[in-house]
Amino acid sequence: MTESTAPLPTVVIGAGPVGLAAAAHLVERGIEPLVLESGPAAGAAVREWAHVRLFSTWAELIDPAAEKLLAPTGWNRPDGATYPTGGDWTERYLQPLADTLGDRVRYGTTVTGAARAGRDRMVDSGRDDQPFAVHVTTADGTEERFLARAVIDASGTWTTPGPLGGNGLPALGERQAADRISYRVPDLREAPVRARYAGKRTAVVGSGASAFTALALLGRPRPGGAGHARGVDPAPLHR
Ligand SMILES: Cc1cc2nc3c(=O)[nH]c(=O)nc-3n(C[C@H](O)[C@H](O)[C@H](O)COP(=O)(O)OP(=O)(O)OC[C@H]3O[C@@H](n4cnc5c(N)ncnc54)[C@H](O)[C@@H]3O)c2cc1C
Repeated sequence: MTESTAPLPTVVIGAGPVGLAAAAHLVERGIEPLVLESGPAAGAAVREWAHVRLFSTWAELIDPAAEKLLAPTGWNRPDGATYPTGGDWTERYLQPLADTLGDRVRYGTTVTGAARAGRDRMVDSGRDDQPFAVHVTTADGTEERFLARAVIDASGTWTTPGPLGGNGLPALGERQAADRISYRVPDLREAPVRARYAGKRTAVVGSGASAFTALALLGRPRPGGAGHARGVDPAPLHR
């Protein structure tokens, strides 16, 4: 930070659990955050798996700096020993936290790039003294630029899931089979999602919490139906 960058906000990319906690820590230190979120609300990625129950308790999911911001607002702290769903996490914690941060959070604002202001690829000198230029596209397609003293990338990995290949690259044939692969825990409350899996044999790859949640959901008997009607493999596949 230099004298010229000190008055600028620190841009946080993403209003997910990490970005909002980072913003709370910045506020605690007297540094002004500006959270830029591409979705229409806080926790936009978490909302996409609102139906899944977390394997962490509330006590593990509430950041101490965030709690300090929320406490004076009359926020009702959930029971720390219980396990929320993704939906609970957004409704009872992430959105109230974002609301407390007020206009320090901007929705519908996708960060498309961040670089040292005035320093293109050809200019190396004095980079550390320059603020960051952060380029965004808003929901209506307008492009804007912000100056920032620092940038925290909390954009997560939801839109870039790990590939099936064991070496971190897509497995051979994975791209060609893209229309038959999902990287999400299916939400079987949705009729089109149910139709996708009903009566078919489904391979679940992995052995983490999400793999077992998917197995449990897919193997659950249909209401009024007989047994494990979806024909799911009995065990997850390992690489
Ligand atoms: C099914 C499931 C269950 C899980 N259960 C647990 C659990 O029990 N315990 C646990 O600790 N973790 C769990 N996790 C992992 C946890 O959800 C993630 O670690 C956490 O959400 C990461 O937070 P984040 O803020 O880094 O990223 P995200 O939650 O992905 O949030 C990133 C945010 O950035 C926004 N964004 C992305 N790109 C841009 C851009 N270019 N410009 C502006 N905004 C952008 C997104 O819209 C999003 O709101 C689970 C994950 C899944 C999928």
